[in-house]
Amino acid sequence: MNKRIYLDHSATTPVRPEVLEAMHPYFTASFGNAGSIHAFGREARKAVDDARDQVAALLNADPREIVFTSGGTEADNLAILGAIEALPVNKRRIVTTSIEHHAVLHACERARLRLGAEVFVMPVGKDGIVDAEETMSHIDERTAIVSVMHANNEIGTIQPIEQIARACAERGVCFHTDAVQSVGRIPIDLRTLPVSFLALSGHKINAPKGIGACFARKGTEFAPQSVGGAQERDRRAGTENVAAIVGLGKACELARAGMAQESERIQRLRDRFETGIMIAIPGAHVNGTRDRRLPHLTNICFPGVEGESIILGLDMEGIAVSSGSACTSGSLEPSHVLLALGLDYEHAQSAVRFSLGRGTTGPDIDRAMAATTQLVRRLNRSL
Ligand code: PLP
Repeated sequence: MNKRIYLDHSATTPVRPEVLEAMHPYFTASFGNAGSIHAFGREARKAVDDARDQVAALLNADPREIVFTSGGTEADNLAILGAIEALPVNKRRIVTTSIEHHAVLHACERARLRLGAEVFVMPVGKDGIVDAEETMSHIDERTAIVSVMHANNEIGTIQPIEQIARACAERGVCFHTDAVQSVGRIPIDLRTLPVSFLALSGHKINAPKGIGACFARKGTEFAPQSVGGAQERDRRAGTENVAAIVGLGKACELARAGMAQESERIQRLRDRFETGIMIAIPGAHVNGTRDRRLPHLTNICFPGVEGESIILGLDMEGIAVSSGSACTSGSLEPSHVLLALGLDYEHAQSAVRFSLGRGTTGPDIDRAMAATTQLVRRLNRSL
């Protein structure tokens, strides 16, 4: 049996052994509630505080600006719904983009339906990049928040958030960025990048699923979206998931230490894979620009072949890839991101996302390349 190859790291990543080891005591001997005043509680509280420092260090933020959440989705929801709820009804306009994750798009839709917000969705170019100038031209006096993702989860394109965030800061408008895919992969410095909110998720950076954080800049008002206890300085009620928080902290510390080297290694492998596929399969093309994107993923159209058939065929060979967002897999609709780039249904249906990670090796890439080429040629007899 061949080794299984996992090329779906944009969907989720394995927990690193060091992360698991750091978490272990908080399931067993140090199981206290971080809100308790006795020694068990104090131990848990210290662990949560230390993890907050580690997350903040990765982003160059103040630890008090980190709110732990159950993941990226909750962080996106908290930023958007929280910011809108904190503002008067005549200042509830949201500007966002057509390629956001559904955690953002559906939060905007909820704000529209339940909080009377007006939502403006910016289109993107064929390259998968939103136009900063045009986005800024849609900010008016009613605009409460602008939400533009840092990097896209399906095609990896990096958005011009510095420019947009700066324009928002100058106009006193909140700016939120979903950085779930970029945190730990490319540097982010929140002392110089003037975002109001930033969402991140543990399971994309080798921490467990079900943990994440929302950076909320000091002085930015938002209404908590879960109420009850006073945890997270009254910003997110609920007993802290201490072990997972510790895991997230450790993963951030490890990412910070090894990011430059690992991103370079992964990018080399990704480029080798992409170039190999382009040479071997006539007509195959990469979706979105190849210039401004995350180092670890590529999204390729294989005209004349169903992406789904490639995913299933590769799965039979022990190679895991995906068609885009794991959250929408199973739906027959093509990706909203690829349609937003202007692809027609047929092309969008022929796309496959390959996303590499820490465990990916050169031989994995070569085997995936050979298997993909063989499979696509079998599925498209005209090649
Ligand atoms: N935002 C983006 C860009 C993502 O890729 C994902 C997960 O795929 C999320 C948000 C949701 O994060 P989580 O799975 O932690 O809720």
